[in-house]
Amino acid sequence: MSWSYSCPWCGAMLNPDKTIILTASRGGERVLIGFHPEPGNYELFLPPNVSISEGDHWDFFCPVCRENLLTGELEGLCELRMVDDDKEQQVFFSRIAGEQATLVVSKGKGKPKVQEKHGDHATRYTERVMPVRF
Ligand SMILES: [Zn+2]
Repeated sequence: MSWSYSCPWCGAMLNPDKTIILTASRGGERVLIGFHPEPGNYELFLPPNVSISEGDHWDFFCPVCRENLLTGELEGLCELRMVDDDKEQQVFFSRIAGEQATLVVSKGKGKPKVQEKHGDHATRYTERVMPVRF
């Protein structure tokens, strides 16, 4: 299985190797964080001097165009584009450390539909009012 991720704003590929690389900021701190490409795998690759505390709110940005990846579509979640076996999808993920919520949404004809839910906390988001039908 291979996943290819890109920025919803500029289209830049964000996992040129396997790991997804995003600019992350918390307070005044700005670092690069690597994410495992498999939806639902929450392994992180952090710089040696960075530690993550549960409940921290992070902002994530595209490292190429620097746009904020927070989505307007699903409140509180960040968005990436993902191509998985030639299907184009959107992946939404939580920006709160320790909160495991990832949604894979298809963008085909008709209404967007959630294809996959991952993480113990995904239902916090699927229960919200959103333009996505479950
Ligand atoms: Zn971008």
